[in-house]
Order: sequence, then C-alpha cells, then structure tokens
Amino acid sequence: MSIVDHSRQDDILVLTINNPPVNAFSPGVPEGLKAGLDAAASDDGVRAVVIIGGGRTFVAGADIRTFNLPRDQAPDLRGTIEKLDAFGKPTVAAIHGTALGGGLELALACTYRVAVPDAQLGLPEVKLGVLPGAGGTQRLPRVVGAQKALDMMLSGTPIRATEASQLGLIDRIVDGDLLAGAVEFARELAEARPLPRISDRSVPGARPDVFAAARVGITKTHRGQLSPSLIIDLAEMAATTPFKQGWDAEAGKFMQAKDSPQSRGLRHLFFAERESAKIPGITKDTPTTDIRRAGIIGAGTMGGGIAMNFLNVGIPVTIVETTQDALDRGLGIIRRNYENSAKKGRMTMDDVENRMSMLTPTLDMADLNDADIIIEAVFENMDVKKDIFTRLDAIAKPGAILASNTSTLNVNEIASVTKRPESVIGLHFFSPANVMKLLEIVRADKTSDTVLATSMALARKIKKVGVVVGVCDGFVGNRMVHRYGDEARKIVEEGARPEDVDASMNELGLPMGPFQMSDMAGLDIGHAIRQHQAKVRGEPKPDGWLDRIVETGRKGQKTQGGIYDYDETRKPRPNAEMQKLIEDYRAEKGIVPREISQEESTQRLAYSLVNEGAKILEEGIAQRAGDIDVIYIYGYGFPAYRGGPMQYASEQGLKNVVADLEKYGQTPAPLLKRLADEGKTFADFDAEKGRA
Ligand code: NAD
Repeated sequence: MSIVDHSRQDDILVLTINNPPVNAFSPGVPEGLKAGLDAAASDDGVRAVVIIGGGRTFVAGADIRTFNLPRDQAPDLRGTIEKLDAFGKPTVAAIHGTALGGGLELALACTYRVAVPDAQLGLPEVKLGVLPGAGGTQRLPRVVGAQKALDMMLSGTPIRATEASQLGLIDRIVDGDLLAGAVEFARELAEARPLPRISDRSVPGARPDVFAAARVGITKTHRGQLSPSLIIDLAEMAATTPFKQGWDAEAGKFMQAKDSPQSRGLRHLFFAERESAKIPGITKDTPTTDIRRAGIIGAGTMGGGIAMNFLNVGIPVTIVETTQDALDRGLGIIRRNYENSAKKGRMTMDDVENRMSMLTPTLDMADLNDADIIIEAVFENMDVKKDIFTRLDAIAKPGAILASNTSTLNVNEIASVTKRPESVIGLHFFSPANVMKLLEIVRADKTSDTVLATSMALARKIKKVGVVVGVCDGFVGNRMVHRYGDEARKIVEEGARPEDVDASMNELGLPMGPFQMSDMAGLDIGHAIRQHQAKVRGEPKPDGWLDRIVETGRKGQKTQGGIYDYDETRKPRPNAEMQKLIEDYRAEKGIVPREISQEESTQRLAYSLVNEGAKILEEGIAQRAGDIDVIYIYGYGFPAYRGGPMQYASEQGLKNVVADLEKYGQTPAPLLKRLADEGKTFADFDAEKGRA
C-alpha cells in the first residue's frame, strides 16, 4: 500500500490516501496526489477521478509538525490544489470522518464533493493562530457565502455534512457505500462541461457591512489576536478581487500568521496538552478501575460543581453534608445551574430532571460505601480533612479512590491517616468546577499507578484536561498565583494604582488582573492564607495594604466591594476611600510612591509566575514546562495565544527574563539562570528530560 494508492473502476481512477492515523497532509501525500492526476490526465480511458481517504477519515488537516520545516521541505499543498483546480477532467472528493483544514481545502479544489451524512467539515486553522492557507479563505466564501464562511473560519467549528449539503458545500450525501456512491456520481457527471470550478464563482451575500460587523465581533471573541483579522481581510478580498489576487495574498498572510509568536504559542499549547496526558511509568497496560458511582463530601461551592461533572456524563452521585439546610442549599444551586442551562437551550427540562434523579443527597457518610470514587470538598482545614479521611477509611469499599479537592494542603499528610494511602490522591478542581477545564491531579508519595491512571481517564471522561502534579504548598497553579499576588501587592505598595496593575495584565490578554481576580475569589481567602503562612513560619502577623482593606470588612464581590466597588453588572470601579487607604498606608510606612510603567508591571507579574514555575520544574513538582503552561491557561485564564507563562518567557528570551528579574530585585531561579546562560528555552529543558 502506498501513501496514495491508484485503482481503476473502469473509466474512473480512484486515488486513496493512506497516511494513518488521520491522513494528514504530510510529505508524500501531495506527490502521490499529483502523480495520480498525471496518470489520469495521460490516460484517455479515465473520464473522472475520485479522491478518498483510507481508514477512518478523509484528510483531517495539515501536518502541524511540518509547520516548522523550511518552505522548500514543507508538503506542497498549494501546488496540489493549483493542479487540481486546473485539471481538465472532473474530480470528486469522497468524504467520511473529517475534512478539516487542508483536507477541506483539498475537497474545495475538486470539481465536486460527496460525503456520508455524519462527516464533519471545517477550517479550524484559527485555533492554531493561522488561517486556511491553501485556498480556503477564497473558496469557502464563494460556496457558502461571506457570512457563513466567516462564521466557520473565525470559530474554527466544523459543520456536519448534512448542513454542508444544504449550503451547497456538499453536492450529494451518500447513505450507503461511500466509494461506490462517489464513483457513480463521478460517472453521471463525467462529461459535464464546462467544469464548474469554485474559483470561477463570485461570493454570494458579500455586503461590506458583513465584514465591518465581523471586525467588531472579533474585538470581543479574539481580542488581541492576529489571525482572525487576517481571515476577515482575505474573505473580503474573495468578495472584491479576482480569485488569483486573493489566492496570492493568502499565501503571504498565511506565512505572516504562521511565523507570529501567537501561532507558536497556540501550537505549543496544542502539543503541550497532548504531552500532559503522558506520565512516565504509566502505560496503556496500567490497570484502571471502572468509575460507576461517585461520592462527594460537602455540597458547597466546589462540591456542587464537582457533582455536576459526574452527572453530566451519566455517573450517579451520592452527596453528603452535615446539615439538611446545607444539603438543600447545595442541591438548590445545582438545580438552578441546570435550569439556567435549559433556559439557554443547552439542555431540555427532561435532561435537568434526569440529572437531578441521579443525585442522592444524604447526611450519612456511611452511604458512600458503594462509591468507586469519593471526593472530599469540605473546608480547607487539615484537622477536618484528617477526620473525614479516617472515617472514610472505615466506610469506603476496598479499591475505592479517596480524593481530596484541597487547594493547598499536604496530600501525603491526609493519606497518612488511612490504612490505604495508595488509594489517596488529590483531585484539584477549579472554580466554577462545572465550567473550568483544568484538573490538577496531585500524586502523593504512595498513590498507586492504578489510582493515578484511573484519575487521568476520569479527567478525560468528564471532559477536563488532567495534569499530574506533585505535593507542595499550593501544587503548581496556586503556588505560582501566590507569588504573583505578592508581586502585585508590592507594585501597588511602590506607587501603582490597582487598576493600572490589572490593566497591565488585561493588556497581556488575561481576562482578569490580579486584583479583579482576588475581589472575585474573596479577599478573606487570601488574607486567611497569608495569616496562616505567617503563623507557620513564625513571622509577625501580615499587615499589608490589602490586609487593611479586608479588615474594613470589604471582602470583594461577595460584599459588593473590595479593592473595587461593584454594581449589578459586576464591573469594577475604583473606590476613593480605598485609594486613600493605600496612600495613607504608604505614608505611614515612609514609602515615597513612584511612577510605574505598564511595561514594568507586566514584566514583574509575568516573570514572577515564570520564576516560580522554574523552581517547580526543578523540584519535579511539574513534569514539564508545557504542563505548567496547560495549567495556567486552563485554570487561570492565561491567554492561549501566548502559549502559557513558560512559553511566553521562552519567546521573550530567557536571558532577557533573567536580566529583568534582576533589574526588579527578584532572584532568578537557578534553573532559569542556567537555561539563560546556555542560551536555551524551557522547551529545551523538556527535551533534555526526554519528555517533550
Ligand atoms: P465551601 O465552604 O463553599 O463548602 C464546604 C462545604 O463542606 C460546606 O457546605 C460545609 O457544610 C461542608 N462540610 C464541612 N464539613 C463537612 C463534613 N464533615 N461532612 C460533610 N460536609 C461538610 O467551600 P469550597 O469553596 O467548596 O471549598 C471546599 C474545598 O475545595 C476546600 O478544600 C477548598 O480549598 C477547595 N477549593 C476551593 C476552591 C474555590 O475557589 N472555592 C477552588 C479549588 C479548591
């Protein structure tokens, strides 16, 4: 079997692409297709050509790993497309599975397209910070119209073949055997001339306001991103200039997008997310257990959200509280959340009832005796957690996973009160737990491979991105965010206004800056953590400006005010009294405020994350720099197009990061310094470890 097989069905030449697993457009595929077209051209017995994917799909996209190849070594998708477009006999793309990116562009360059009903078609390039670079931006609008093409290219979301057929993107739906249907279709139209080339058409529905509205739209959906605006420019060219002009412009803009730090960041995330699923020592053969029933202790903010994750995938949940009131409150919130989803049309009322019927409330922990996994989500207090795990040890069935949702506490210590520490693990969900995609999976010293592998599989099942981390105060995400918070408070202490500090992070692409985030989480939480940490370290009671704000009774959004004031729209507004409190604080401490630039604020905050991240890496708390990036993007809103804090630092150049940290009086972590001295990046470190 060659990468593109030729076979004859009488007068039709069938070209089958065999590049498992997804028939990506790797080197070899374009050569094979071009050779097939040459063979068809020179053979008078061939009246038409069918192109089909072998295995489970048509061409699912470009081969992203080839993006980094020099131009002359990259697979020649554009050349293949040009050849197809100019070809003198009908060509039919026969689509099953997915036709994505380069796959759909290939299909668009054929004369006709047929598909099975559940095939998916889309141009997802925007998700990698690039754009369809082989005619997609010029051909799709000519078929489905400007608006629909923009929707598809800007969202990157594929559509089903049945919808594509209504849009004219698919010429025939084949219900039975795809190849037989495609050959029959090719035969029917083999003599039709002139060939209806998409490149000869004009764009329907191309009013100028469609493009203007799209430009406004992306300021909300893709703030700060390059490729969406290039996509709109090109779609507009499709509507307003001859095909050749748009086709040529597309090549240049594709390179511009591909070579941008944003695309490098998104591609880094794409691979980092896949890598994060791999754990040394855990293989496909590591045994896992079936999770058929879950138990949750605590129906508060986190417990309720965690329960929803299980109910959403059909796993029944027993949820335990200490009082009927707390139980009723918790269940009420879950029901309200589901009903709101139903109001928005995301589920039916039957779905709501169905999910609620799988939830068993109880005040008796003994009811957890049949659960395959039990997740504790009670107050963040070691004594309370130890008491619960001691009781769980007596109740839970053998082999059940005993998990804690603690955000900072030592999971080894929690495990130590049980006779089965191998069953204990940390499963750290993020708030709101039914929404946030991240799950930090905390591997304690004695956690068994089975428990770890089952937890990873569970993360996938409940549609989370699971990342394995080690035990330390705050694990990866919160440990970093604590350093970040310290630095943010320091910047204000030295002279900046909180809103300027937040703006510097908004500018970097984070939806919330550090103070917007702490007002949302509740200022009392950070305050309590700082008090606790000082006590543990034998330091005096913390007395920063933010502690003083908390002591006035302002706890953030939950008290309608914290660092900022809030109205019902929850938009933060600076509060004059709090500004005064900060000024008085500086005066009392003898601090002469200085002007702090946005650049300084951005660098100090971003690099405080990077510096702590480097320590975490060196200690082996995170396996890879890429894992830290995944955690920060999915758990803390770091912009995906920057690839995460570690990738961002690598983009800036680690030498520059070290120099800036030193300039601002921070001590660079030894690993960061070493990599900088050796002219390396964090990706090099991952490669050194053999884990990239
Ligand atoms: P919460 O106060 O909203 O809820 C805790 C619930 O546990 C309360 O309803 C309480 O009645 C119940 N509870 C206490 N003792 C119990 C017992 N013995 N048996 C049964 N129920 C009991 O707290 P939360 O915000 O949901 O936090 C829970 C845990 O999750 C903490 O360890 C916290 O650190 C962690 N966490 C919180 C967040 C967050 O953003 N809130 C994020 C990640 C992790």
